[in-house]
Amino acid sequence: MTTAVCFKCGAFKIGAFVPCSKCGAAPLSEDDMVMSFVVTDHHFDLNALKEIGLRISRGDPPKVDPKTRIDVLQMMRQTGSVFDAMRKTNEKLTTPKPKPADKAASQGKPWWQFWKKQPDEVNAAILELDKIENAFPDFEVDLISTSVRDRIKTEPEKVVHSIRVDGMTPKALVYLVITNVLDRELSSGRFHVYRGLLSGSGENLLRLWDHAVDELLKSGNHSEEDAAKDKKWIREQIRNVG
Ligand SMILES: [Zn+2]
Repeated sequence: MTTAVCFKCGAFKIGAFVPCSKCGAAPLSEDDMVMSFVVTDHHFDLNALKEIGLRISRGDPPKVDPKTRIDVLQMMRQTGSVFDAMRKTNEKLTTPKPKPADKAASQGKPWWQFWKKQPDEVNAAILELDKIENAFPDFEVDLISTSVRDRIKTEPEKVVHSIRVDGMTPKALVYLVITNVLDRELSSGRFHVYRGLLSGSGENLLRLWDHAVDELLKSGNHSEEDAAKDKKWIREQIRNVG
């Protein structure tokens, strides 16, 4: 259940897109949908939501910066969620009004961003990465864990989407990111001693690759065929570089 704040009156409600029981407002326009999605416990803790609700009730709604707005819209479109259905209804009911110039957006960091917390899904993924790193020292996960961590942290919307919408476990997601990073690293020549020949660390990372692919098979994110193809494919890459 999502604890949310009404974009119109600032009252608490359960569910980002449901009509507010206090004022009756339901988000219909794109901007109201984005605002409703942002001001939930997926993005803020309870104290921040209280502050936001209070400010909305005083006519001081948070300004969503353009990048967040685009990310949220993209995510909602990808999910093909209630969002589309609601927007279609809305298009029949209203004509778009011209947008007033957004002065606040150009005045630096929006105030509400100071409360923005890392999504739970990102925290869960980082935790899994730490576990994997500790559990398999022989694979030299530490050689790539910084890159893996950076990817998870810099693309939170992808992480949230994979876990919340695609239904991946945080663990499977981390293994997927590991294969993405390894794909680049093992094809870079950085872990080769000669053309086609990996260094000792390179060999360990190749074992990590196989392990990650096996885990993706176990979690149901890969078919037997995908797994076999991935293992064959990385070896072809390794053969051709260095
Ligand atoms: Zn309301």
